[in-house]
Amino acid sequence: MDRDSLKKDYVELVASVREYVEEQLQLGFIESEMDEPERESPYANLDLPALATDAASCTKCPLHETRNSVVFGIGNTETDLMFIGEAPGADEDRQGEPFVGRAGQLLTQIIEAGMKLKREDVYIANVLKCRPPGNRNPEADEVETCSPYLVRQIELIQPKVIVALGSFAAQMMLGTKIGITKLRGEFYPCSVPGLRVLPHRKPPMVMPTYHPAYLLRNPGGKRDVWEDVKKVLAFLAE
Ligand code: SF4
Repeated sequence: MDRDSLKKDYVELVASVREYVEEQLQLGFIESEMDEPERESPYANLDLPALATDAASCTKCPLHETRNSVVFGIGNTETDLMFIGEAPGADEDRQGEPFVGRAGQLLTQIIEAGMKLKREDVYIANVLKCRPPGNRNPEADEVETCSPYLVRQIELIQPKVIVALGSFAAQMMLGTKIGITKLRGEFYPCSVPGLRVLPHRKPPMVMPTYHPAYLLRNPGGKRDVWEDVKKVLAFLAE
């Protein structure tokens, strides 16, 4: 190979490495040295009951002013499988349990009729623990303030797979702004900031898929969700 060809190959190699690193940075799978150092979670030493007790009286963001209940999470704390949604709705706010309204019933169908599991065999939580008024989208500062609760829940439960329901949950789990339509259907390592993983464990794998509330408006998306949960079942069976 002559010198010019070698030089051309070298330039192409550097360009493709740079493109790969930029893509990984954008997806949040690797961190830039320019990123801020991680801060210690205020809940790093709490177990799940203590964490739930802390959340029950939380007033760290304005959502506490309008909530009826803090919707912490429910299910099997020894599970390999977590479902994470966006925030409680009106039914959840009334009952204090995640995914109990129409969207929740659809999630239960996906878990029980589709995956042949029991709802109580998995753990279900949301990014926000209090309902945004009128079911508006969560604000970035609310997500930032509330997310340490969810991060600690994940640390304590140590699931193998997290099914991220909808854009907000998926974007938080993966530290990206990419939309759910592009993200869904593939596994990604969980890269939520501040998540500590035990030395002998790998980070949970995240499967982004559509939120059940979206499926109520767009039933055609159910086929995609079914494909996604089949991949989850296959992964868990490995
Ligand atoms: S949404 Fe989260 S941070 Fe805000 S008050 Fe509720 S528990 Fe606290």
